[in-house]
Amino acid sequence: MLVEVAVAAAVRGTFTYRVPPALTPAIALGQRVAVPFGKSRRATGYVVGFPAEAPDGLALRDVTEVLDRLPPFTPKLVELIRWAEEYYLVPPGELLRAALPPGLNARGGAAGPARRGVEYAAPEPGAGDALPSLSRSRAQRSVLEYLLARGRIPVEELRAAFPNGRPALTALARRGLVRLEREAPVARGGLLAASAAPPELTPAQAAALEAIAGASGAFAPFLLHGVTGSGKTEVYLQAIARARAAGRGALVLVPEIALTPQLAGRFRARFGDEVALLHSGLSPAERHAEWQRLRTGEARICVGVRSAIFAPVQDLAIVVVDEEHEGSFKQEDGPAYHARDLAVVRAKLEGAVVVLGSATPSLETLENARRGRYRLLELPSRVDDRPMPEVELVDLSKLRRSGRDVGAGLVSPRLAEALAATVAAGQQAILFLNRRGYETLVVCEACGEEARCTDCAVSLTHHARRGILLCHYCGRTERMGGRCPACGGPRVGVGVGTEQVEEAVRGLLPGARVARLDRDAVGTAEETAALLARFARRELDVLVGTQMVTKGHDFPGVTLVGVVLADTALALPDFRAAERTFQLLAQVAGRAGRGADAGRVIVQTFNPATPAVSCAAGHDYAAFAQGELDRRVRHGYPPFGRLLAARVEGSEAGARRTAEALADAARPALRGEVAMLGPAPAAIERIRGRTRWHLLFRATSAQALFRVHGALARVARRPPGGGAVRFDMDPQSML
Ligand code: ADP
Ligand code: ZN
Repeated sequence: MLVEVAVAAAVRGTFTYRVPPALTPAIALGQRVAVPFGKSRRATGYVVGFPAEAPDGLALRDVTEVLDRLPPFTPKLVELIRWAEEYYLVPPGELLRAALPPGLNARGGAAGPARRGVEYAAPEPGAGDALPSLSRSRAQRSVLEYLLARGRIPVEELRAAFPNGRPALTALARRGLVRLEREAPVARGGLLAASAAPPELTPAQAAALEAIAGASGAFAPFLLHGVTGSGKTEVYLQAIARARAAGRGALVLVPEIALTPQLAGRFRARFGDEVALLHSGLSPAERHAEWQRLRTGEARICVGVRSAIFAPVQDLAIVVVDEEHEGSFKQEDGPAYHARDLAVVRAKLEGAVVVLGSATPSLETLENARRGRYRLLELPSRVDDRPMPEVELVDLSKLRRSGRDVGAGLVSPRLAEALAATVAAGQQAILFLNRRGYETLVVCEACGEEARCTDCAVSLTHHARRGILLCHYCGRTERMGGRCPACGGPRVGVGVGTEQVEEAVRGLLPGARVARLDRDAVGTAEETAALLARFARRELDVLVGTQMVTKGHDFPGVTLVGVVLADTALALPDFRAAERTFQLLAQVAGRAGRGADAGRVIVQTFNPATPAVSCAAGHDYAAFAQGELDRRVRHGYPPFGRLLAARVEGSEAGARRTAEALADAARPALRGEVAMLGPAPAAIERIRGRTRWHLLFRATSAQALFRVHGALARVARRPPGGGAVRFDMDPQSML
């Protein structure tokens, strides 16, 4: 017996091995095996095929061991991975390795602990009074704060928010501050608890559900376009309930779990034990256990982040991709696959329904819907017809021209006034700025020299609290000296970051409770969850932060959202800059007015007329999308053309030499069908001391790009200037 094996290493192609008779019974497609490889006696590989005969003239070696009782990959997953290998131009073994939870490297298949029903945690009455006594245990305090804000919740939600929170939870229960209780497993198709009973759908939700349920049993792709708070998640939940009632499985991909633990909780509360969660907050052993529960069919619904696209859900009937426009579905390093696009491929392979949901669909997905490839389902208004928040634009350039003060920390008089009124009314505000630090740039007033990282081609950010200059790419720090190291002149900081906004708000509202949420202010998932919990409990009035504040949070007390500077992402040298800006603004605006009181949004900008800003202010997705599609079609950018990036990293001279060699190899293959942009230094020319060059290929068909790749493969394998070449099909980042 012969097997085709993908070795878990960065080598292209697959290898043929013989299977000794003793191992034959245990061999199956998708099985993990140990094989001799190169000079090493033992490498891990995966069985991806059964060739009838051996390649000519090769002495074959034997598979030495079969590593699992049950193959970790189903035959359909092997097919998916082989498809991805071809399309994304990445080694199959690397994909297989990236697909598996790291815990699976442990020998055998130790199953997770048996579960009996869903475990809930709830704060005991009066537990809030004990908070001050917990000042010495930050973990316990954080967990209790979260529970006080959320009430009785599945422990799973807590685990998503506090990956290492179990000991604290146990300690709180022992102190009598928290109650832990289990509920019996869900009866098939039954309901877990009254609180988890599904609400009656709005007519738009019901129509979407019927379309999805009516198509099930065969491949059918849908775009579910619904404004923030329109009840998309409820449609997913009920569509999955239908699939479960038919005894079938479901896969839900979400961009992030740690920042939005409620979502995991909603699935757990509705489906109990049948849900397996896959995200990076779990320990390897836990991820392994969840993977095994899916593989054995004990769990039938998987909720997970990007890599969960490869989760072994049995008898898959429906795939959901929530916030399908999010860039985090594209893996940027390692094998460069796009989980949203693979979701459609997987649904096709498995004969399943796929639902891509978003308030601001990516233009690729929109265009697929417009061409009739995906069916469009719309939820045009919020549940309960709650109004969309009113958005007001503040033109910062006009303020500046009129000589009036823009305001400290870029908080304009208009925004300052709105903040004061909101806090005075006992309501809450979120301020968003996509820049960390105090000042984003430090320059010498005398010679103009800018503080830059010596290893990366970027300027250093001033973090005033720590008194340092920090490189946001490599983490290198310098003391913030007052003088220019080149000429001794005085240095000034320019460009506002979140730290400065926080300081300005404290200055404007001395009595207000203000906190900051960004990667500098909160180090761990625990601290993030605890801070969000305090905000949810209304112990904070104003939350200032980076895009961490824009995610799917649901804070009914928030009636004001301020965008400090809408323009930060607009100027990036990336054809998706406008689209990303629009999505971010729509997302953050959606945080306002989710409770009983109406919300409003103040967007400060130097570009009030640019469509990304003006359409976001008017909640006009259609107008933005039309204008942007017109622009894309003129330039042949996606969704009207396809892109392949070749990224070179190496020494300064070497990277250039390799990039030029790639260009020389590509030219004869372009044949007037493929446009080559570059070779050129990347927008960020150097990171961690490595020089970066990019080539971008654009064509109307993927086939033409594969042909170019074929012409480049030899150069990429042995880069003449040294360094490394990576290919990125459908690249998301142009930097
Ligand atoms: P989205 O995913 O579009 O942001 P959600 O599904 O989270 O929207 O719904 C927003 C809020 O409205 C949630 O609190 C949800 O529980 C509630 N909700 C959703 N559908 C209904 C409905 N048909 N009736 C009442 N409440 C609903
Ligand atoms: Zn650096």
